[in-house]
Amino acid sequence: MPAITSLQPRLVAQFDQIVARAQLSQAYIFNGPSGTGKAQLAEWLAMRLFCENLQAGMPCGQCPECQRILTKNHPDVVWLTSDAKSIKVDDMRALKAEMSKSGVEGNQRVFIITDADKLTAGAANSLLKFYEEPVPGMTIILTTTTKNQLLPTILSRAQVINFPAPPRDTVAAELVESGVPARLANLAAHLTVDVTAGQALAADPNFEPRLTKVLALVSKLTNHDDTAFVAVQTTLMPLAKSLPDQQQLLAMLALAYADALNRHYEVPTTGAYGNDATIQVLAAQPARRLSDGLAAVLAAQIQLSQNVTFQSTLEALVLELL
Ligand SMILES: [Zn+2]
Repeated sequence: MPAITSLQPRLVAQFDQIVARAQLSQAYIFNGPSGTGKAQLAEWLAMRLFCENLQAGMPCGQCPECQRILTKNHPDVVWLTSDAKSIKVDDMRALKAEMSKSGVEGNQRVFIITDADKLTAGAANSLLKFYEEPVPGMTIILTTTTKNQLLPTILSRAQVINFPAPPRDTVAAELVESGVPARLANLAAHLTVDVTAGQALAADPNFEPRLTKVLALVSKLTNHDDTAFVAVQTTLMPLAKSLPDQQQLLAMLALAYADALNRHYEVPTTGAYGNDATIQVLAAQPARRLSDGLAAVLAAQIQLSQNVTFQSTLEALVLELL
């Protein structure tokens, strides 16, 4: 993961100015895709506030204050991160106990809740007290990939900072630099803008076979080859056992149709599949067939999210695409 100063230079400069002018708000929502540096900026901001050895406004990362923040051992920089599916009122208890204390070593305190979209309504409501009775020097940062899933009461009282995603070709270039083959890097960069997640995708031994089989399916569909239906059971199902893998397979299929549409209209873009011959043949189909195809894949993605089994979703999709 690149340093936050190169990942989000504009936001770093913005928060440097905010701290320099002592204009830090009471509550922020850091909103953006995963891999865009939300937690890193929160950590940087904490170091910017506490560092004993600022270098032209930049925290040094070396002094005891910075070190304690980096190792998550600073008493006035409190994190709540959870691997569970939701953050419940119980999980908030320790954080709230901390919030009601005054600063251990100074007046400034920072509370960071990552993946705040996982807050249950009860947990979110228990935060409101701290929104309504501001404590001087206390800053709460919530990070989220989907700010619209936060309660309106939480959203309206905080300042929303949007984290822009890096361009796909930048992500792909970083993946290639880390040793991922170009063909896989390009596709992975269209599935995630998070370089670390992209590396994990490419490292999955089934990622490349999935790509190959999806392209084989596309080829059959283009040729109105009825064996496409059988291929669902024989070649695709064994490569997509978990829900994330199934979602990925449908995403690969959606990207194939999106790429073909772009190519059909000669939109100048690299696309997820580069110059792949299968996509070029698909792109020669009538535009209507391509846009209907893309719509059908997107509808299948919604079906899968609504707990329809993968096999019946994919079989129905293939029949429609044929
Ligand atoms: Zn420092």
